[in-house]
Amino acid sequence: MASIYMDNHATTRVDPRVLEAMLPFFTTEFGNAASKSHAFGWRAEEAVTRARTQIARLLNADPKEVVFTSGATESNNLALVGAFEAAAGRGEHVITGATEHPAVLDVVARLEARGARVTILPVDRTGLIDPDALRRAITDRTVLVSLMFANNEVGTIHPVAAIGALCKERGVLFHTDAAQAAGKVPVDVQAMGIDLLSLSAHKVYGPKGAGALYVRRKNPRVILEPMLHGGGHERGLRPGTLNVPGIVGLAAALEIARAEMPLEARRLGALRDRLQEGILARVEDVQVNGHPTARLPHNLSLSFAYVEGEALLMALDDVAVSSGSACSSEKKEPSHVLRAMGLSDTQAQTSLRFGLGRFNTEQEVEHVIGRVAEAVARLREISPLYEMARRTTGAQVTRRIPTS
Ligand SMILES: *Cc1c(COP(=O)(O)O)cnc(C)c1O
Repeated sequence: MASIYMDNHATTRVDPRVLEAMLPFFTTEFGNAASKSHAFGWRAEEAVTRARTQIARLLNADPKEVVFTSGATESNNLALVGAFEAAAGRGEHVITGATEHPAVLDVVARLEARGARVTILPVDRTGLIDPDALRRAITDRTVLVSLMFANNEVGTIHPVAAIGALCKERGVLFHTDAAQAAGKVPVDVQAMGIDLLSLSAHKVYGPKGAGALYVRRKNPRVILEPMLHGGGHERGLRPGTLNVPGIVGLAAALEIARAEMPLEARRLGALRDRLQEGILARVEDVQVNGHPTARLPHNLSLSFAYVEGEALLMALDDVAVSSGSACSSEKKEPSHVLRAMGLSDTQAQTSLRFGLGRFNTEQEVEHVIGRVAEAVARLREISPLYEMARRTTGAQVTRRIPTS
């Protein structure tokens, strides 16, 4: 069987409909959207305007509030650095969470080196922050709260509307990294009180290297200090010739996701549940990580006691999954997300992340269940730890599933 891709939190395949929408903007419609003197430029600009409107509709925003970037990493940088610098003199306190993507945590560390005071909120066993802890953390000097919409490893969805309401009440800006959430679960910047929101095209069946930052224009009007300088593009917030094909692809991808979200979430949720049940039925001593209900429908993070995640990855040579986030799996360190959720280093190192996607089928799920069951059985057979545990517990095995 050909390789099965189940790593859709790392990236997704471009949907053929998205590719089709993009293609003309590489060939006949190659104009620079900033060229005002001819039709090539006008048509490119029209395409960008259309894309901006489509994206704004998905977020319940105004088109003027959409700033195009190269992806969620850049959007996070612009949101955090831009808001921090623009607040100079008014405050220097930034609040974020322990399970954030490195594209937030590394930026916050950089701000700390430049004088920011940083609070990193802990999470519970399921990956949720405590809104009361957030309430207590906010001070008169707090300028920004940055908490992700949905986690890229365990899929936990934060209570974004409650966080937004709290920030509003305290007059603090709220940024959310929605790279994993946009196009997968409903996102509404008005209803949820979001001031800044990061998007990425390649997590939602669009191209790599394209993304956007939503920047609120009223109630309140968010001021950001730009990071790049060199032209008036994107209202001076993000200069540089616009990536027209990428922008068209981002909008097409989000438009498709918006239209198909109810059906797709149900289909992927059912596939994920089948994958989870299938594995739990055949493998003992497996822990499901993340929140039992506030979880992305296509996410499944499992810890297989006594089995090294890396060894399991190798054994599953025809299945593309990951042992953590794509960014940290090179480092071989236990996932900071699972550690923050209270897993030991050892437990974190036995974890595997499955990310189902639009192009996965039921047959693939059945195949993966079989492959995982086989591989875990084989690795445990040669594991002295497993042998020892079986002897001491008299082969009594427990299956731990997080409750609330
Ligand atoms: C993938 C991802 C990013 C980085 O997005 P890029 O567009 O690849 O820069 C940031 N945050 C989260 C939660 C992600 O999943």
